[in-house]
Amino acid sequence: MAREKIINAGSIGPEDETFNQSLRPQRLGDCIGQSELLEKLRISIQASRQRNEPMEHVLLHGPPGLGKTTLAYVVANEMGTNLKVTSGPALTKPSDLIGILTNLQHRDVLFIDEIHRLPAAVEEYIYPAMEDYKVDFVVDSGMHSRTINLPLKPFTLIGATTRAGLLSPPLRTRFGITHHLEFWSVADLLERCKLSANMLAMDYDAGALELLATRARGTPRIANRLMRRCRDYAQVKGDGRLTIPLVEAALKLEGIDPLGLDDLDRGFLRAIIDVYKGGPVGIETVAATLGEETDTLVDVVEPFLLQSGLLARTRRGRLATAKAYEHLGLTYTPRAEEKDLFEEENR
Ligand code: ADP
Repeated sequence: MAREKIINAGSIGPEDETFNQSLRPQRLGDCIGQSELLEKLRISIQASRQRNEPMEHVLLHGPPGLGKTTLAYVVANEMGTNLKVTSGPALTKPSDLIGILTNLQHRDVLFIDEIHRLPAAVEEYIYPAMEDYKVDFVVDSGMHSRTINLPLKPFTLIGATTRAGLLSPPLRTRFGITHHLEFWSVADLLERCKLSANMLAMDYDAGALELLATRARGTPRIANRLMRRCRDYAQVKGDGRLTIPLVEAALKLEGIDPLGLDDLDRGFLRAIIDVYKGGPVGIETVAATLGEETDTLVDVVEPFLLQSGLLARTRRGRLATAKAYEHLGLTYTPRAEEKDLFEEENR
C-alpha cells in the first residue's frame, strides 16, 4: 500500500535507493544538521589521517532514514578510502564476514547496517577483527584441526542499528564512538528540501517547501520521498512548480496529516484507543491486531509517536496520550490508573 511505504523510512526499492544516493552529500562540509556528531567525526578523521591510522570504530543508532549510511559514505570519502557496505542479516556464515574483512585495504571503512541482527556465530569473529585486526579460524576437525591466524589491514567499522539495546555488551563496548541520531529539526529538513529542489532543478514557492519539511516526520529520507511524490503531482496537476496548494493536495493524497502522520501511524493509535481503550497494551498485541511486524512498529512507527507526545511507553504496555485523542478528533476521558502508570514509569 503506497501510504505504508511513505512512512517506512527504509529504502523501498532500487529507484528509491538511486534517488537517495543521488541526494547524498559526499563531504562533511556538505552535511546538514547533527553538528555535534559531525564535529566528533571531523576531529577523529583529521587525527587519524595525520597518524595514517584508521579511524576509531563508530556505532550509530537511531530510527531509520536519519543519515547513518550517508555518514559512512562521508567518512570513507574524507579518509580517502573505500567503503564496503553490508548488513547483519546478509552475513549468515563466518566465511561471509571473513571474505569481506580480508579484502579490506588499509584504513578502508566497513559499514554494517542492522548490526544487531548479526548471527552470534558470526559476531564472535568480529571481536578480534575490531580489536587486533586479525581473525582466527579453525580448519578441519578432531585431531587434524588447526587454528589459522589471519592478519587484517587496519580498518574502521561503522555499525548502524535501530536499537542499540539489542547489541550484545561485548560488541557495544568495542566501538570508540557511539552516537544516537535524533530526529531532524524542521529547519534542517527545510535546508535538505531546498538542496534537493535545487539539485532536481525544481521551481518552488518558499512556503511549499516549509510545508513539506513540517510533514516529513523529522526524517530526511521521508522528506526526499515526499519531495518526489510532490514533484510528480505538480508536474501532472500543475505546471511543475511546487506551490502550497499543490503540496497540500499531494500530501492529502498520500494520507499525510498536519503532524506528518500517515495511515499506519493513525491506525496504530486507533487500535490502542478503539480496541484496547487507550491502553496500556503490549506491543505484540497491537502488532497482531494490525497484522504488522512488531519490529516495524517498534523501529519505524513508535519513535516518532513517542517523540511527538502521542504515545507513552510504560512498563505495562503502550498508552495513547490525551494529545493522541485530540489529534484524532476523539474525546479523551482520563483514566484513573493513568497517573499511577506514569509515576510507576518515572520511579
Ligand atoms: P539511514 O542509513 O539512517 O537509513 P540514509 O543515510 O540512507 O539513512 O539517509 C537518507 C537520506 O537522507 C539520504 O539519501 C540523504 O539524501 C539524506 N541525508 C541523510 N543525512 C544527511 C546529511 N547529513 N545531510 C544532508 N542529507 C542527508
